[in-house]
Amino acid sequence: ILPHMDDPSAFMVREKHMKFIPAAVATYYDEPLVPLAGKGSRLVDLDGKTYLDFFGGILTVALGHAHDRVTKAVIAQLQRLSHASTFYPTIPMVELAEKLIASAPGQLKKVFFTVSGSEADEMAVTLAQAHTGNLEVITLRHSYAGRTVMAQALDGLSSHRAVQSQIGAVKHAPAPYCYRCPLRLDPKSCGTACARDLKELVETTTTGRLAGMLVEPILGAGGCIPPPPDYFAIAAEIVRKHGGVMIADEVQTGFGRTGKMWGAQHFGLEPEIMTLGKGIANGLPMAATLCTEWIADSFTSRTISTFGGNPLACAAAGAVLDEIKEQDLVANSAERGKELRESLVRIQRQFPRMIGDVRGVGLMLGMELVRDETTMNRTPATEAVSQLMEETRRRGLLIGKGGLHGNIIRIAPPLNVSAEEIEEGARILMKSFSAIQGG
Ligand code: PMP
Repeated sequence: ILPHMDDPSAFMVREKHMKFIPAAVATYYDEPLVPLAGKGSRLVDLDGKTYLDFFGGILTVALGHAHDRVTKAVIAQLQRLSHASTFYPTIPMVELAEKLIASAPGQLKKVFFTVSGSEADEMAVTLAQAHTGNLEVITLRHSYAGRTVMAQALDGLSSHRAVQSQIGAVKHAPAPYCYRCPLRLDPKSCGTACARDLKELVETTTTGRLAGMLVEPILGAGGCIPPPPDYFAIAAEIVRKHGGVMIADEVQTGFGRTGKMWGAQHFGLEPEIMTLGKGIANGLPMAATLCTEWIADSFTSRTISTFGGNPLACAAAGAVLDEIKEQDLVANSAERGKELRESLVRIQRQFPRMIGDVRGVGLMLGMELVRDETTMNRTPATEAVSQLMEETRRRGLLIGKGGLHGNIIRIAPPLNVSAEEIEEGARILMKSFSAIQGG
């Protein structure tokens, strides 16, 4: 029995949550799920039901729930110092900066800590603008950068933009979304035309002088969409030729999520700026922007994020990085991810009309559901995903969804998930598909 479970008024949370702005905060399921506690890949809700959590609080608990190493590090830090003036460097902050820089790709040698991914992406774009002296930024359709004013302008999903964008310097390029090619070409013979099209985008819709291009190495909220292997090489050449820098948003793809430490490494992309967030501190609010020394030198104004680099979050993130390294969790992500992907492909073979596409790498996987794959209309099966979410929940598995039409299932177990848990999750998923298909 956990606190709240024997308290009837706690169950009012389901009605009370409607007071939030927006009330849509808990609409993943018909009845909001109220988590009370978790351990590893398991989560327990208010009804005492235990779930296998394959979405980790939307990728925020990289090491699973209540990880002992993180808990110990945070408690020890809390007993010493929870916050100091943002004008003092603290030991956990400095130690974390060193660890991040040591694991970061290429020339990324400077760090700025923030509290959210939105803030980290804003800082990244501001750095690119300050460094290049140019304002215009390219990003991708179907991308997600967050909820601040600039982040909303960067978002490539109208579902996340409440009011008309107030920042005109953002241009959205067609997403490298091969399953639904924006140029209606065949990915086998297209020559990555979507990347080559960037040249025309720059030449026709901008001043020709770019601050940079912000990209998620694999589009996350947009529906787990990896680009063709050479996409970023072509894009980076065009962007740099026009004075811009490449910004990799690794908020979802970073920290081993994709079976490599950084998502950009799958595509040979060496960004000048990189942003991190979500799982970085295993659930504590923390994000960061990394950049090269020469870009950092261009940023001469004062800037403060009051809780950015908070010692508690830094202690947690330090523990996460140590655990990833010592337990070789990047390799675990690659291996378990491969097993899970194979299971998803097997499920696809059972339901070929409904499951149009299985994609992703490591433990960042997606399945796109359509009404009828055989007709090639590929009408998004939004309702089927909602039904599947209910079925998987009923059977004790938590997964996520995404995509412009909410027709893409997203799966992201903790990095230390076991082979048995992967099998268990795949079994539940297969049964849930059978249930909604009447199979
Ligand atoms: N970038 C990406 C790729 C994200 O997925 C998100 C969050 N879903 C953000 C930025 C924004 O992060 P936050 O919600 O912490 O502001």
